[in-house]
Amino acid sequence: MGFSTELQGQGAHEVLLQRQDAELRLLDTMRRCLASKLKCDREFAQGMAGVAAQATKRDWNEELPDSTLAKAWCSFATGLSDLSREVREGAENLENKALQALKQLHESRRDARKTYHDEHLKIIQRLSSLSEAVQRKRNEYQKQLEVYKTTRSRFEEQYVNLRIFPLAGRTGPKLAEVMDKYQRACRRLHLIHNEYVLLLNEASNYEKDFRTSLLPGLLELQQDQQETTLTTLKKIMSEVVRFTNLSTEKFSEIYTRMNIGVREIKPKEEYQKFAENHKTIPKAQQKFLFDESLTEDSSGKLQPNVIAVDNLTLDWLKTKISELENDQKEVQGKLREKEEVLAKSKLQNGLLDPLRIEISAAETQAKQEIELLKCDDRQKGNQLSLIKNPLNEIGCEEIPPGCDLSLVQTESRSTITMTDTLSAVQTRHGRFQKLFKKPFSGGKKSHSVSQTTLTNISVPGSPRDSSRNSTFLEMTDPLQGVPGARGLGEQDWFHGVLPREEVVRLLKKEGDFLVRETMRNEERQIVLSVSWGNSHKHFIVQNSPDGMVRFEGPAFSSVPELVVYQLKSGLPVTARSQVILRNPVAKETWELNNDDVMLNEKIGRGNFGDVYKAKLRTSGQDVAVKTCRMTLPDEHRKKFLQEGRILKQYDHPNIVKLVGICVQKQPIMIVMELVPGGSLLVYLRNNANKLSCRQLMAMCKDASSGMKYLESKNCIHRDLAARNCLIGLENIVKISDFGMSREEEEYIVSDGMKQIPIKWTAPEALNYGKYTTLCDVWSYGVLAWEIFAKGGVPYNGMSNSQAREKIDGGYRMPAPEGTPPEMYQLMVRCWAEKPENRPKFDEIFRIVNQLFENHRQTAIM
Ligand code: ADP
Repeated sequence: MGFSTELQGQGAHEVLLQRQDAELRLLDTMRRCLASKLKCDREFAQGMAGVAAQATKRDWNEELPDSTLAKAWCSFATGLSDLSREVREGAENLENKALQALKQLHESRRDARKTYHDEHLKIIQRLSSLSEAVQRKRNEYQKQLEVYKTTRSRFEEQYVNLRIFPLAGRTGPKLAEVMDKYQRACRRLHLIHNEYVLLLNEASNYEKDFRTSLLPGLLELQQDQQETTLTTLKKIMSEVVRFTNLSTEKFSEIYTRMNIGVREIKPKEEYQKFAENHKTIPKAQQKFLFDESLTEDSSGKLQPNVIAVDNLTLDWLKTKISELENDQKEVQGKLREKEEVLAKSKLQNGLLDPLRIEISAAETQAKQEIELLKCDDRQKGNQLSLIKNPLNEIGCEEIPPGCDLSLVQTESRSTITMTDTLSAVQTRHGRFQKLFKKPFSGGKKSHSVSQTTLTNISVPGSPRDSSRNSTFLEMTDPLQGVPGARGLGEQDWFHGVLPREEVVRLLKKEGDFLVRETMRNEERQIVLSVSWGNSHKHFIVQNSPDGMVRFEGPAFSSVPELVVYQLKSGLPVTARSQVILRNPVAKETWELNNDDVMLNEKIGRGNFGDVYKAKLRTSGQDVAVKTCRMTLPDEHRKKFLQEGRILKQYDHPNIVKLVGICVQKQPIMIVMELVPGGSLLVYLRNNANKLSCRQLMAMCKDASSGMKYLESKNCIHRDLAARNCLIGLENIVKISDFGMSREEEEYIVSDGMKQIPIKWTAPEALNYGKYTTLCDVWSYGVLAWEIFAKGGVPYNGMSNSQAREKIDGGYRMPAPEGTPPEMYQLMVRCWAEKPENRPKFDEIFRIVNQLFENHRQTAIM
């Protein structure tokens, strides 16, 4: 096996030649490339030596003492120099050893190829020339054979003639000539025969040699040579590789040294050390803290750092959320764009190499921008959660009011809450058994209001009383069309449109609850209010499209069923609030059903609506009913009920008495004792000629008695005037019109509301809005003046501002004709500029009472 046996054919010979040619080309390429590499290595070594020299031009260790980076750099620079030396040495070796050998080998291989080619040609040619010679000899042989045959024929012919005709004399020269030719031809033939034999022998032998030794020998030799060449090349290549190897021990030593330097770089420690060495006092942290004093006066409605979610801010919050969400979307879009651009630029610039990332200024800038966008994104997200969290927390809870429009601040809250007068008004916290009055009970109302006067009262104009036309008010069932409201109005714990402030006062113990109705975005909503923790939770009953109602749990067809389920199951109303219903709080006695009141004729017109004479359906008691126009905004309705709330706690003959409020449905109403004489002012004017001084004194006494009572209750009336007093049987004066046109410390000057009664109001209240009982004392002086002026107009002929100016200048009204001097004296005292110089109601009552008594006695005598 091998060239000698396998490659004898002509085709193989040609392939072998091609192979040798290719190998020669490869050798030539190797030679040239190695020469180039050599040049490169030399240049590299030279360049590197230059770099190393440059790197160590400055003494970094001296410039940056203790710097591990400087140390690492120096060992790296030394490494570079070593590297340069190693590469140069490698190049020398490459040239002296490998490259020289390669050159020689290339030459010898070229010669060998030629030899092979020539030798092969030679032996081939010999064989073919022998073959040709054999052919030629054979042809010659053939020709000679013809000649021989001819001469032999001629000779035989002559010879025969001689035998036949011996004496004819035909022998002689002709026979001899023929015989000679015959002999020569014969000789010639024999010679050619011999030559042919010899030639054949030679050719055969050569052919055999060619086949068995000459050609195989040549091929074998060729194989040997090629193998030897390859062996030599292998050695050369191995040398080349060795000199190209940058991972030799020496290089790896250099690398190790370089690496040790690098490993020694400890950024943290280095800069910690650096920082320690160059420690300075940092700038004080700038803190952005909520100024808590700002929320002090907000009655807990505003909390530091907490977003205020209430009816005042709800719309704003919603807008803010959508603004923030849009902004955030925009920011996130930009962020994605920047990140994509950055990723692309990394790919394009091949900057995925972490070593490069830090050094690309454009990339750093892009990253910074991304960071800023991320901050912005986070910022928006934070703000969104700051707003959304409290909003979500509210969930189905009712949005709390932002502004507490309950009674004025100067009145002590403790004295005006309804809950403090519970001795007067019995609460009826229904037991659980009584809780659920079945909707559609259809039969007689089982609602049991403990106050005997309050049963089976209907409103004229309502379907129950078709005898009267409702000309004054639209009586509508507010629950009509409200999902799930079936049977709700009949539940004791349904408090109708009772304002939230009242609701909060009724719910005291944890788990106390009631249901009420409210308006939100012009839509009626049923709200479950529960006392929980230290506050009150309000849950809006959720309506599903199929008319069912629910909180978070199962849906029911009516609110009563839903509430009973919540109570019985003991499950939290909402998972987040964990509020559990425990005790239904029934309507208080003063919460009447609208249907319990039968309105009769209109007897007056108030700020919020008309005033009617009415009858309680149950007891037949005559009452006066103040109605609140349904068109008035919610805020005004709340204010309207404030009068009821204040009056509810008072019980005095000279204070108009509250019977109850009707909040089950619209219109909400305040039911009061009917004071038959109506307005004191009108009465005074109408009866001016009939009224005696004693009667007038009695009126002043009544008014002072009522005011003394209010003073003892820390109540400031703020609108004391004859027009706001009522006159009853036996000329008894009753103070009325409580808290109607007041909001905290100021009167509201708006649609349908009273303006500040300048001529009745004390200067400090007008000038500084400062209301105290002593302001009421000033007003009492004016009231007394009105009484003695029998309904006269104070500061007559003066406008409000003129009067105010005059008063500020020290002017005081003169006494009306017939006013007892002591009484006028008292009036003047009431009008003392400084509040502290005015008498208190206690004293006023004493004086007026004394005067009245004196007067009575004088009158009697
Ligand atoms: P407002 O406080 O809304 O201004 P008022 O209390 O002044 O309403 O009442 C308006 C009018 O209705 C009074 O002037 C009076 O004539 C009449 N009125 C009010 N309350 C009663 C009452 N309890 N008994 C009789 N008449 C009343």
